[in-house]
Amino acid sequence: MTQSTPAAATPALEVRDLHKSYGDLEVIKGISLAAHDGDVISILGSSGSGKSTFLRCLNLLENPHKGQIFFSGEELQLKADKTGALQAVRNEQINRLRTQVGFVFQNFNLWPHMTVLDNIIEAPRRVLGQSKAEAIATAEALLAKVGIADKRHNYPNQLSGGQQQRAAIARTLAMQPKVILFDEPTSALDPEMVQEVLGVIRGLADEGCTMLLVTHELSFARQVSSQIMFFHQGRIEEQGTPEEVFERPQSERCRQFMSSHY
Ligand code: ADP
Ligand code: MG
Repeated sequence: MTQSTPAAATPALEVRDLHKSYGDLEVIKGISLAAHDGDVISILGSSGSGKSTFLRCLNLLENPHKGQIFFSGEELQLKADKTGALQAVRNEQINRLRTQVGFVFQNFNLWPHMTVLDNIIEAPRRVLGQSKAEAIATAEALLAKVGIADKRHNYPNQLSGGQQQRAAIARTLAMQPKVILFDEPTSALDPEMVQEVLGVIRGLADEGCTMLLVTHELSFARQVSSQIMFFHQGRIEEQGTPEEVFERPQSERCRQFMSSHY
């Protein structure tokens, strides 16, 4: 028996009241979200609704103008520069944030001059200080997991789009992130390659990996997500379980989006 009551679980990643502008155009208008361990949160919305900007702000690939970001309960220390954009106070903290919060890009962003294996071992060696042998062993296991072990000595341009994206996912996993952000990971792929990448993401969801996923693959989002967020013009227009958002959308815009895309 214990006297203590368990504290509410600390989210792996949390953002409060995030705002972001490009010049005079405010494109993120106060978004808050908490991802707990094992959450798969899909972000849906029309093109231009702010999905990518939001995701990129979370690990400071873009600088927000207002808001707070917490990773594993630690607040990212931010300070406004003379334009009003928030910059990290300490580079060391940004590196830690980016280690814990992985990012998978629409266009893979593999380094073209490095083999697949070298792409994957680079950050674990440089940032995590792994030995070459250790990093290679992890990379080979991850390449097997995403089904491209035979491509380890190839360069990115020798791979199909689906294989490149699977290599990019392996590269992200090699950093043992606590959360992975996916920005339309299949939208640059030919249709026949979409499923092989969705299959890898589904496997990660089944393993309990915490993810934020921007996607237009609505039936996939419905199947794998614990939570759906529908963005409209830089705000969360609707959120809920997949069943709530797909079956009983409250907002007219979300209803329209669902009826034209799903
Ligand atoms: P989504 O990913 O939902 O399609 P984005 O986050 O890419 O939306 O874009 C949101 C808004 O911000 C759009 O109006 C877009 O034109 C604008 N925007 C995005 N990136 C930039 C940029 N680098 N400079 C100026 N405006 C931008
Ligand atoms: Mg986008």
